Amino acid sequence: VNPDINRLFVPVVTTAHAGRPPITWGEADPMRRGPVVATTTNWAHRNVIGAHSQYSLLGGWSRATGLLDEHFVPDLSMTEPMIKIGPHPQWSVPGKIVTFDPFGADIRGSFGAYLDAGYDIRPTIAIHRGKIRLLELSAAVHGGRLKPDGVVLMESGDCNVTKIPIDSVWDLEGIARRLGVDEAQMRRCMYEQSGGMYEQLVSKPELKIFLPPVPNCTILIFGDPAKLTDPSVKLTARLHDQCVSSDVLGSEKCSCRSYLMFAIEQCVLTAQEGGVGLIVYCYLEGRGLGEVLKTLVYNLRDRDGDDPMKYEDYTRQVAGMFDARFQMFKSDPLHWLGVRRIPYLISASREKLSGITGGGIEIGHQVPIPNDRVTPGANTEVMAKEMLHGYAPRGQPN
Ligand SMILES: [Zn+2]
Repeated sequence: VNPDINRLFVPVVTTAHAGRPPITWGEADPMRRGPVVATTTNWAHRNVIGAHSQYSLLGGWSRATGLLDEHFVPDLSMTEPMIKIGPHPQWSVPGKIVTFDPFGADIRGSFGAYLDAGYDIRPTIAIHRGKIRLLELSAAVHGGRLKPDGVVLMESGDCNVTKIPIDSVWDLEGIARRLGVDEAQMRRCMYEQSGGMYEQLVSKPELKIFLPPVPNCTILIFGDPAKLTDPSVKLTARLHDQCVSSDVLGSEKCSCRSYLMFAIEQCVLTAQEGGVGLIVYCYLEGRGLGEVLKTLVYNLRDRDGDDPMKYEDYTRQVAGMFDARFQMFKSDPLHWLGVRRIPYLISASREKLSGITGGGIEIGHQVPIPNDRVTPGANTEVMAKEMLHGYAPRGQPN
């Protein structure tokens, strides 16, 4: 079959084309796939449940108080991606990417005809090149573990990165399939668990795409992003789950920031050797249970003697479960980047490893945090994970 034949059926979009564009998730050609239209300015064009940004309800406050015009349509000129990612073959393998829109970054390049016809299509991915500065990287330079090279790492301690925040766009059919559950049953449970907030989950089964008020991830790439698709290139990666108390505020009750900073240091070293470093920062605070719940568990742990053998029970008592991270979706951002193999994964977690390999991505070595990087306060957490959850033991100091 001549693949060009398919192109004959690409819809021609005109201003007369006033309806809702169909979405066929997993199609390779973005025009055949169809744009995600979640606009609130023209409801006849909407082809999804939900709205852009987890802050859409604050948008409601902004409308109510007159801060935001109800007819506002963004001017996206000069906001285009600073580098091009994909399209990669993984974008159109059915079921490979179900938690965000692989075509969500380059809206003009993918859906220009719809934009020209007046459709309000908004990016759900932004791609930026910039710098980050972290105390730990400066300390590693002063300690002689890292050397500025003027390319990846500057004398000032600034580090060049590609930064890619991604909003959630859920393909409900694909998500149900990956969870191994019935889609209609899943939609009903989501409707009920959100207190009836998204009635269309049950009343409009034909709407398969949902923009939930749940953040997705931010990707940081150290070195040349184009090399991510080459399985022979050294790639050091960490898929890190958000922890505000440690990552941002430096709490020593867990090993999160230590792990993140160790991983970033290894990413810089790998990029300096001609490889690529990759951090996927996943917004799954408190194992996907949230910060309030996590902190309630901290209270319980502190008052009950913080027994590592009861680490899991403490959370179950308060949350009814231990972990809501659903690691089987961790491979989505990797597929989007075209990654097929991770020679060095900075993690001790068995669940994370099997989530990634279950998605079809090969892992070379799993590299746990060196023992001397675990702060004393994090011992209960790290011990519990090693004893009860099959985590790889801490590595020797390096
Ligand atoms: Zn933590």
